[in-house]
Amino acid sequence: GALALIAATSACGSSTKTVDQQAGTGSGAGSLVGVTMPTMSSERWIHDGDNIKAALEKQGYQVDLQYAQDDIPTQANQIENQITKGAKVLIVASIDGKSLTSQVQQAADRKIPVISYDRLILNSPNVDYYATFDNFKVGVEQATSLLTGLGLKKADGSAGDATGPFNVELFAGSPDDNNATFFFNGAMSVLKPYLDKGTLVVKSGQKDFGTVAVLRWDAAAAQRRMEDVITSSYGGGAHVQGVLSPFDGMSIGILSALRSNGYGSATQPYPIVTGQDAQVPSVKSIIAGEQYSTVYKDTRQLADVAVKMADAVLKGGKPEINNPGDYDNGKKVVPTFTLPVVTVDKANYQKVLIDSGYLTADQIR
Ligand code: BGC
Repeated sequence: GALALIAATSACGSSTKTVDQQAGTGSGAGSLVGVTMPTMSSERWIHDGDNIKAALEKQGYQVDLQYAQDDIPTQANQIENQITKGAKVLIVASIDGKSLTSQVQQAADRKIPVISYDRLILNSPNVDYYATFDNFKVGVEQATSLLTGLGLKKADGSAGDATGPFNVELFAGSPDDNNATFFFNGAMSVLKPYLDKGTLVVKSGQKDFGTVAVLRWDAAAAQRRMEDVITSSYGGGAHVQGVLSPFDGMSIGILSALRSNGYGSATQPYPIVTGQDAQVPSVKSIIAGEQYSTVYKDTRQLADVAVKMADAVLKGGKPEINNPGDYDNGKKVVPTFTLPVVTVDKANYQKVLIDSGYLTADQIR
């Protein structure tokens, strides 16, 4: 049938497939893979979805790719539909890590393996594999870049010439996304000694995760919180000198709050603002000298890892993992493959983002 034909065609380019699979009768050939992504409001998830779909189709699989506009019930429905449609494996980037317990149970009941993508699905034994980046390291990189931007550290990691004290404000990502805690804890592992010594001062006093977290990573909400903090804590000539921001979308919101409060001029420069994802508006902002840095995660590689995992389980094999112990979802330590991350700033964006083909020179002009 048509499915066997697709599988056979795709097998031509691959020397590793068995004759059985080339004939379309091997387990998994032509199967439907359900892919659910959280939102299209951030460009990274669009690339993730596109990359996963293209790679799976190239290998002869059928793909149902869905986005949920950050709406939890929508995502739950999409997963249930994929199960009904006969998906043989699910790749899920969750909105709320704790809200899919029933859906992954339904999958398990039908022996459908679940691969958690980028964000860990929590509180369920029915998560088979996890493909992600080194999330704690993302936070370490963001905080280190904040220190470098302020002159407290040099690029080689040694102590910088500046002594401070510097006024900084902290932001964290969505409290229902397991990654947000990893990012924040990674960042605080670097910043805490500076905060304890008074080299860094949070004038708003808002330092704990629950207080600084921004639901759904929302740019407008981050902008409002920055406005509020400036109004309440930066009267009388005090300036914000650094902002720990976990995500480029939020960084852009934070920068506009700063701009409307007089920052970004020769006399009152922008603070050092961090980010994540190397999204186009933020890379442009970095080139323009506004946002200071971002943490680049090659989502092409992540898609590749997830597709390899799906392919392996569909063929009855075991996916490669490199991180067996770091990710406990509350019910299970999930076998994980983690990828490395890279800090990008004005000095290396060309090499890291453009020369690697992740972004084109045209996109950031
Ligand atoms: C991802 C980040 C992203 C954030 C907001 C996190 O789960 O790991 O790359 O910036 O969600 O979309």
